[in-house]
Amino acid sequence: MAATYDAIVVGGGHNGLVAAAYLARSGARTVVLEGRPKTGGAATTEAPWPDAPEFRVTRLSYVMSLMPPTIINELELPRHGYRIYPMGPYYQAFPEGGSIKLYADDAQRNHEEVSRWSKKDADAMPKWDAWLAGLAEVLGPLLLTVPPSLGSRKPRDVADTLRLAWRHRGLDVRTIADVTRLMTMSIADLLDDWFESSQVKGALAVNGVIGTWAGPYEPGTAYVMAHHSIGDVGDGHLGNWGFQEGGMGGVSAAIERAARSHGAEIRTGARVARMKVTGDRVTGVVLENGDEIDAKVIVSTVHPRIAFLDHVGEEHLPADFVSDIAHWKSRSGVVKINLALAELPDFTADPGSNLQEHHTGSVEMAPSMEFIERAFQDAREGRPAARPFSDGVIPTAFDTTLCPEGNHIMSLFTQWVPEDWNAEPHAEELEAYADRMIDCYNELAPNFKASILHRDIVGPHQMEHEYGLIGGNIFHGELSLEQLFHMRPAPGYADYRTPLAGLYYGSSATHAGGGVCGIPGWQAARAAIADRKAARRGAQVRKLIRRS
Ligand SMILES: Cc1cc2nc3c(=O)[nH]c(=O)nc-3n(C[C@H](O)[C@H](O)[C@H](O)COP(=O)(O)OP(=O)(O)OC[C@H]3O[C@@H](n4cnc5c(N)ncnc54)[C@H](O)[C@@H]3O)c2cc1C
Repeated sequence: MAATYDAIVVGGGHNGLVAAAYLARSGARTVVLEGRPKTGGAATTEAPWPDAPEFRVTRLSYVMSLMPPTIINELELPRHGYRIYPMGPYYQAFPEGGSIKLYADDAQRNHEEVSRWSKKDADAMPKWDAWLAGLAEVLGPLLLTVPPSLGSRKPRDVADTLRLAWRHRGLDVRTIADVTRLMTMSIADLLDDWFESSQVKGALAVNGVIGTWAGPYEPGTAYVMAHHSIGDVGDGHLGNWGFQEGGMGGVSAAIERAARSHGAEIRTGARVARMKVTGDRVTGVVLENGDEIDAKVIVSTVHPRIAFLDHVGEEHLPADFVSDIAHWKSRSGVVKINLALAELPDFTADPGSNLQEHHTGSVEMAPSMEFIERAFQDAREGRPAARPFSDGVIPTAFDTTLCPEGNHIMSLFTQWVPEDWNAEPHAEELEAYADRMIDCYNELAPNFKASILHRDIVGPHQMEHEYGLIGGNIFHGELSLEQLFHMRPAPGYADYRTPLAGLYYGSSATHAGGGVCGIPGWQAARAAIADRKAARRGAQVRKLIRRS
C-alpha cells in the first residue's frame, strides 16, 4: 500500500524546504523527500575533515543576499535561527602593490579608495551606484513576478502579458535603453563605458561571471552582475551580502524548522526514482528502495533533467518540452575550495594577521579584467585555469561557531576548469589547480600557504554526483539570456507549472533562481495552493449544481 499525502516535495534543498513550509502552512499534509542523508542541497554546512570535526565549512554556497523579506517574515525565519552578519567591503590586493576596498553603502570611503587609482573613476562611482539602483528598482520587482507565457493566445496568458506591460507603462525611453544594455552587453564593455582604471574594472567585474560559463567579454554578463547586485539581506542596503551564522546550512535549517513547525514531514535518504503518471496527471512517486508515496500535488525542486527526463520520462511529456529540457545549458566550471586556517592572511599591501576590516568582506583574486578573461580562456581551450580567479570570504571574521577560537575558515569560490569536468573526478588535476589558486593568494599574502591546516576541494564531478548539480552548474542552469524569465526552465512553463496536472516545478532553474533566495519554491507552492483552492471551489460548485 502506498502512503498518501496531500503534497510531496521532491528535493530537500532550500527551495524544496520553502515549498514544503508554504504547502504545510496552507493546511496540506506535506512530505519532503531528500535523497542525501541531510537537507540543504547547495546551502549546506558540513565538516569535511573526519580528523578535524571541529572545523565546519559552508561547503558550496557561502553568502546570502537574494532572499526577499516576504519569505523571511512569512516563515518567521529569524525565530527559527536565520541570522545574517552583513559583510564587510570588497577587497583586492594587487600584484603590482596597493589594494582597493569597495563598500556597499559608504560613498565617501568608496571615493577615497577609488581616487587612489583614478580620480575620474572616483567621481563616476556615485553615478554608477545610482544607475544600478535605478535598474534594481525595475528588475527587483520582476524577481517576484510570475513570468507570463509570451506568445500564448489563451485568455489568461494574454491577460498576464498585458498586466505586466501595464505595470511597466511608466518606464521611459532612457530606462528601457538602460535595461536593454544591461541585458545584452558584456560586463567588460559596460564597465569600459563607465571607468578607466583596470583595478576598478576588475573589482566590479567579479559579479558578472560568478557561476557563469562565460568570461567578462561575453554578452549577457552585464545582467549576471545585476542579478548579483539586486538583492538585499533584509536590511535595505542594495546589493549587500551577508554571512549566515553557522554557514549556509543555517539558512536551510531555519527553513526546515519553519516547515516542521507547520507540520511538514521531512525524510532524508529518500531518493526518488520516478514519478507515477496516469494520463496527463502525476499521482505519486516511487523511491529507489521501491516504496511508493501518492499525492495529488508534487513539487519537484531537483535539476530539470532529473525532474523531467529521469523522473517523469519523455514518453509522458510533449516533444517540444522534452527538447527544451534536453538542450538546457548547465555548464559552469566552478571549483569550490574550503580551507581551515591557523591564522588570517597577512597581505603585504595591508599588513597584519590580526582581524582587520579587509578580512571581513570578499577577499578577491580578480586583479584585472584580463586576469579573469585569461582564466576563462584557459578552460574554454580545455585546460584548467593556470591562474584561477576567486571570490574568497572568511565568514569566521564574524561567525565564531564554525571553528575553534583563533582559527579561521576561508571559502574560495573559484573558476574555471573545463566545462566537461563533471564527467570525471579529475582528482589529481583539482589538487594541482588548488595549489595554483593558493599560490596566487600567497603572492599577495606570504603567510597564506603555511597557514592552511586542511583543505577541501569540490569540483564539478562531485557537485553533479553528490549534490545533483548537473554539469556542475551552481544554479541548476546557466543565467544566460536565453534561459531567463519566460524561458526558465522552458517557454510556456515559466509559471512554476508543468505539462502534467498536479506537477509543479520550483528549483533554481525557474525564474528568480539561482541563488539562495527561496523564490522558486515559494512560487511553485503558491501555484499549487491556488490550483488546489480552485479545484475545491470547482468541486463545491459541481456539488451544488448536482443538488439543485
Ligand atoms: C559552489 C556553489 C556556490 C554558490 N554560492 C552561492 C552563494 O554564495 N549565494 C547564493 O545565493 N547562491 C549560491 N549558489 C547557488 C545556490 O546555492 C543554489 O542556486 C541553490 O542552493 C539551489 O537550491 P535548490 O533548492 O533549487 O536546489 P538544491 O540545493 O540543488 O537542492 C536540490 C535537492 O534535491 C536533492 N535531490 C536530487 N535528486 C534527488 C532525487 N532523485 N530524490 C530526492 N532528492 C534529490 C539534492 O540532494 C538536493 O538536496 C552556489 C552554488 C554552488 C554550487
